[in-house]
Amino acid sequence: MSSRDLRDGVCAESDPRGRYGDGPGMKIALTGCRLVDGRGEDPLPDATILLDGSRFAAVGPGVNTPVPADARVIDVAGRTVLPGLIDLHVHTTFYYYRRDATVHGKPYNDPRIALVGVWHLEQLLEAGITTVRDVASCGQLVFDLKWGLGEGLIRGPRLWAAGPMIVPSGGHGTGFPELAREVNGVTAVRRAVREHVAAGADLIKIGYLQDEWTVEELEAAVDQAHRMNRKVACHVNYAPSITNALNAGVDSIEHGCLVTGPELEQMRDQGTFWVVTSQIFREQFTECKALVADPLAPRHVVASAQAQVRRHELIWDNMPGAIRHGTALGVNIGAGSDMFFPHVGIAALPLELASLVEIGLSPAEAIRAATSSAAQCIGCQDELGTVEVGKLADLIVVDGDPLSDIGALQEVLLVIKGGKVEKNVLNGRGSAGGS
Ligand SMILES: [Zn+2]
Repeated sequence: MSSRDLRDGVCAESDPRGRYGDGPGMKIALTGCRLVDGRGEDPLPDATILLDGSRFAAVGPGVNTPVPADARVIDVAGRTVLPGLIDLHVHTTFYYYRRDATVHGKPYNDPRIALVGVWHLEQLLEAGITTVRDVASCGQLVFDLKWGLGEGLIRGPRLWAAGPMIVPSGGHGTGFPELAREVNGVTAVRRAVREHVAAGADLIKIGYLQDEWTVEELEAAVDQAHRMNRKVACHVNYAPSITNALNAGVDSIEHGCLVTGPELEQMRDQGTFWVVTSQIFREQFTECKALVADPLAPRHVVASAQAQVRRHELIWDNMPGAIRHGTALGVNIGAGSDMFFPHVGIAALPLELASLVEIGLSPAEAIRAATSSAAQCIGCQDELGTVEVGKLADLIVVDGDPLSDIGALQEVLLVIKGGKVEKNVLNGRGSAGGS
């Protein structure tokens, strides 16, 4: 499966005819840029970046990159430009973190969940996240959100969507039937993949805990998805199940918090991505420890929190070493926030990147995990992930130097997606509104 096949099948769909841009002939020139282009190379100082319509038309040192007379010039001297960020693991329609998980005593209905999704998408874009991969949503709503984005009815990142997870009975997420579709048997698995693709899935998400599916069922899911030109993201955390998923040929391991050396070597050999979601584990660990220490917490709550603390101690014993080992081996690392759980804030990718740095990645490696490598994980590396001539013009501007302080990504001043200014507070908050 080549990246071009995926791009033609999926990436092009997400930006039909470049409609997010201001159209051919609309030129923007960013001058005085310190460009960190997402490939992990040295930054380019005092660069000029020229956007023509929805794409990058020129990128180079300011002294020999002329600015056309008809270009709108945005001076970003002293600031850093990066590719638009890519979050590989979000759930735009999750609403469970909201305290009022019912409306007037009734469960959330589809329109209300869709409104939450619209709000999430807007928050993501404001945070400089210009592409997301939604790896489990409430029913089919995410495909409607994608339609709304494509039609220009709502604002948000480019969206690659899986729809609900496909899981075996007893597997991950089965307590949430709207999120996880229970499927058993090779024929049923193939049928479910076909139906998800027919409904609009850009990728297939499977959830796998501990060998609930046979190897044949796993292989059927992956084979059917690949036949239909879709990648497979697999929620899996423990070593034996990770090996089964890798043997079946999944394209990304989601979470993988207890991954060990042999699986990392297999991932390197197969080019499989490890989409690390460290921040959510960090938040969960903090929350469990607080519950254990809470004198007012009921005893059964404390007992279950204690079990979670023990699990997280294992995770944190493993994760930093695994990240360093995986990086040294050359495993493809991708960044995902797993946002929208009670523990994690909205648009949490910058926090995830800070967390990755804390456990062993360099800032440049963390940035790559959310830009060029993330684009490769989705299969749209020919179109997104770096600031390069010909690619779709997605970029952000921040103060400071994220290569020495990854926290600089938490305050994004300018967001351009597909050549369109989506946020501009370069001159302070009062200047918002695409000026
Ligand atoms: Zn998730």
